[in-house]
Order: sequence, then structure tokens, then C-alpha cells
Amino acid sequence: MSLGQAGACYGGVEAGGTKFVCAVGSGPEDLRTTVEIATEEPDATIRRVTAFFRSGSQSGARIRALGVGSFGPLELDPEASEYGRITTTPKPGWQNVDLVGPLSDALGVPVALDTDVNVAALGESVWGAGRGLEHFLYVTVGTGLGVGAVVDGRILHGVHHPEMGHMLIPVSPDEREGFDGVCAYHGRCAEGLASGTAIVARWGRELRELSPEHPAWLLEAGYLADFLTNLTFVLQPQRIIVGGGVASETLLSMIRDRMHRRLAGYRASLEGSEAMADFLVMAGLGRRAGVLGAIELAKKALE
Ligand code: ZN
Repeated sequence: MSLGQAGACYGGVEAGGTKFVCAVGSGPEDLRTTVEIATEEPDATIRRVTAFFRSGSQSGARIRALGVGSFGPLELDPEASEYGRITTTPKPGWQNVDLVGPLSDALGVPVALDTDVNVAALGESVWGAGRGLEHFLYVTVGTGLGVGAVVDGRILHGVHHPEMGHMLIPVSPDEREGFDGVCAYHGRCAEGLASGTAIVARWGRELRELSPEHPAWLLEAGYLADFLTNLTFVLQPQRIIVGGGVASETLLSMIRDRMHRRLAGYRASLEGSEAMADFLVMAGLGRRAGVLGAIELAKKALE
């Protein structure tokens, strides 16, 4: 499918704390011109994003709508006066920044916004490891720890978007003495204990730089097993899909062992290693889950 063909082209933005990934296309087959724009101060960053999509328009790839998956927290209630804004983020300069208004004004197309993890879950549901499932979780373990939930085939929202990464979990008896966690709000919540930022703060290195015998691996697997077991009991997903820079098959196999023990036979269908291997899986779209989900969100903006 050529991007020059009218009607086939959408824009997707994965707005992160360190970079904005932008792409044009309609799905994995024709996703192209992905660019990464460093997250600097908001006005300059948004200007560079709009310039990218405008230059695409000039080459014939005019987008019909734009989807944005962003770091948050976000105001997603269309009735709220603050709709489309990043609200109370600890990221300096980004509090109360309007994403939807400037992008839709500059590009003249509908703009849809959701959280980065909800949008990645949407991408996995259409093209990745969530295909055909009615109930699943997409978990990202990277700079932060976040979860997008699909329940009854829809992305789960409450009065506010869910913030499952801030769930409180038990602090391990093997935790490093004096480690207070890295969450700006809660210290030792799940994100504060088990995000990639927490790993680096605790050990001075990323997990993949440490040998599998290093205690960091067991500690991380234990925290994520507690976290994902709690989520399993709350939402009863058919599958849990894990992405983000910390995720690896090695880590997942350690988590499966511990989760299986914590579930303690309570969900009979998860008995046995084959069932657990199918229940807890790596993301099918890898690093493209966010930007592809944003493309799918753009399509929904036209509905
Ligand atoms: Zn927290």
C-alpha cells in the first residue's frame, strides 16, 4: 500500500519522557518514516513533531488523523476543561501541558490521546500477542512500570486512567538496606521498587548488564511476580504481555516460576509450565507496540 494513496495514512506518536517517536502508516506492513525527537521543553518538542507530520504531508503522505500515546498522568475526560493535557507529571516543565490542542490546531486533523501503556495494549491487541483475546494486560517495565488492561475487548478506563504501576507490594526481605524506592509520589510502590529506574538506582547498572547470578535478578523477578499475581487476581486476564527495556525471556522465566508458586493452584488453568509459558509472554510487537497502537488510536479518532 503506497502512502501516496489517499485515505490510507495515519500518524502515530509515542510521547515519552526522553523521546517522542513519530511514524506514518496504517499498520506494521507500511509503517515508515519513524523519527525520534528528543523530549526537550514542550513548545519546541511539539513544534518538531508537527513539522515532521507536515513534511510528510508535502510528500503526499497526508495523515487523516493522529493518535498519541503519552506519558502521564493525563486528563482524558473529553468533558473536562483540561482535556488533552499532561497534568501532574514530575517531569520538569511538562506540568499542565496541552498535547491535543496544539497538535490538532497545527495539523488540522482529529487527534486522539491515551496513555503510553493503553496505546501499546491497543497495538498488541490488533497486531501482537493480544490478537484474538478479550481480556489481557500489557505491562511495560522500563523507565517506569505501567499497565494497560484490555477487558471485554476494550481498554479499561476508570474516572481516571488506571495507574497500576503505583500498586503497593510487600518490600522484599532481600531488599538492599536503605533503598527507599524511586517513585516521586510513593517511594516504594511497585514502580518505585521494580522499574528500570529503580534497578539502576539500587545497583548502579541496568539489569541486562548484570550476570544472571547477581541478586538483582531474583529481587526483580520476585517483585514482578508479586505485582503480576495481584493483577491476575484482580482482572483475571487470559494473558499478560510484557514489554519495555527491562523485559527479557530470562526474566520472564524467573517470574513464571515465582508466580506459579504465588498463584498456588488457585487458578487451575494455569497449572503446569506450558500454561504459564502461554500466560506470561514477551510483547509481540517489541519496541513498535507504542507507535503502532498510536496509529490504531488515530483510526478510532475518525470513528
Ligand atoms: Zn508510585
